[in-house]
Amino acid sequence: PLTLLKDPRLLVTDGLINGKWVKGSARFDVLDPATGRKLADVADLGAKETKAAIQAANAAWPAWRGLTAKQRHAALMKWFHLLMEHQDDLARLMTAEQGKPLPEAKGEVAYGASFVEWFAEEAKRVNGQTLPTFDNNKRLTVIQQPIGVCAAITPWNFPLAMITRKVAPALAAGCTVVIKPAELTPLTALAAAELAQRAGLPAGVINVVTGTDAPAIGRVLCESEVVRHLSFTGSTEVGRILAAQCAPTVKKMSLELGGNAPFIVFDDADLDSAVEGALASKYRNAGQTCVCANRLYVQDGVYDAFVKKLAAKVKAMKVGNGFDEGVSVGPLIEPAALTKVEKHVKDAVKKGGKLVTGGSRLKGQFFEPTVISGATAQMLVAREETFGPLAPVFRFATEQEAIDAANATIFGLASYFYARDIGRITRVSEALEYGMVGINTGLISTEHVPFGGVKQSGLGREGSTHGIDEYLEMKYLCTGDV
Ligand code: ADP
Repeated sequence: PLTLLKDPRLLVTDGLINGKWVKGSARFDVLDPATGRKLADVADLGAKETKAAIQAANAAWPAWRGLTAKQRHAALMKWFHLLMEHQDDLARLMTAEQGKPLPEAKGEVAYGASFVEWFAEEAKRVNGQTLPTFDNNKRLTVIQQPIGVCAAITPWNFPLAMITRKVAPALAAGCTVVIKPAELTPLTALAAAELAQRAGLPAGVINVVTGTDAPAIGRVLCESEVVRHLSFTGSTEVGRILAAQCAPTVKKMSLELGGNAPFIVFDDADLDSAVEGALASKYRNAGQTCVCANRLYVQDGVYDAFVKKLAAKVKAMKVGNGFDEGVSVGPLIEPAALTKVEKHVKDAVKKGGKLVTGGSRLKGQFFEPTVISGATAQMLVAREETFGPLAPVFRFATEQEAIDAANATIFGLASYFYARDIGRITRVSEALEYGMVGINTGLISTEHVPFGGVKQSGLGREGSTHGIDEYLEMKYLCTGDV
């Protein structure tokens, strides 16, 4: 699929340190999850190169923060336009290494690029404050300054957007960055870095350390006294390790971790709309997003009708290679992902769940889109994020029962519910212990809203006018003798 790139120079396989492509002494294979075939081999960099990247970022920092906001705005806008100009190629790279259907990949390129545009604009709106004084001989002001060298460790499920959502606000604020993309999807990241080079971002402002020894790279980033901020999107398990490793240097962190999203359908919901929302929220990216519905709670009165309608739609979904026309569910990212979905299905069936449709692996790394009815709190699917195309449907009777079940988790990222009663909408929105609530919709992400979770789903918010705050420190100035 990569021989079809319009611009073959976007197939970059070396890391980027201080404006130079770095081959490294070892290489690792990047595979196409749809076919198992090798796509490229990429520089397998480690601790040594990570240190060099941090140094390069630190050296580039003074000049970058010394630009005016408008100059950084202009540089980021160039990068944005290049990302959009090469949307098709970036999408092909993404589908090849990640598996998502090509239209979804194109959507992600636009979504990913939108963070660059948004934060290019926000660069110009980093305002300070003047405060009333407590003494007429003094003047009180607050200024905002870039925090310093930033590290970004990103996952494979959104190979571009998870990078731009962190890197764009950091650059806009006047910080420089070291990116460690997921080892399963480095090609999209490297192509984006190539476009950043073409946009004229100075050497060292963006560095990309590709490699398979994530713990070694991560440790250097966490332990560095130069790195002042670490942003991570990935599992809660790894997030906890990174938080512990960042404690000794008291590093500021933004964490976007696991979710276990409830999707609640009340008796008064518009059922067809709820089914559409569930499909979009559950099966997008083959169920591999942290905001995917993980547990569907449906009220007694509409339970059977909902399951029937959902199963019919799920049965009709086309599974296959993301490059094929009409495919809506691609492969899972790696064999371990299939094992997890299979384990959740078996566990649910063993504990009394009924397989309504799907339930099996297909040839290769594909899994049938699956619906299980009669799900219960005792099942693994109630507690763990499946990260695959499995929808377990739980039955409930009262509003309070649904709220309690939805909140019975350590996670608190996205949640969804469908209802028409205005009182209920207000009550349930306020009662859900989640950072985000989709009300009568299954799709909530866009660049100008605060994305993030509560409880063990993370710290901080990405996107929106708040997203840049993570990369700024405020400084209070008290000027005397005036
Ligand atoms: P996912 O479920 O998305 O694979 P992970 O948390 O395993 O979530 O991976 C997300 C990112 O974290 C990837 O870039 C991966 O290489 C990196 N990673 C995994 N383990 C560690 C670690 N111990 N230290 C630093 N980074 C890690």
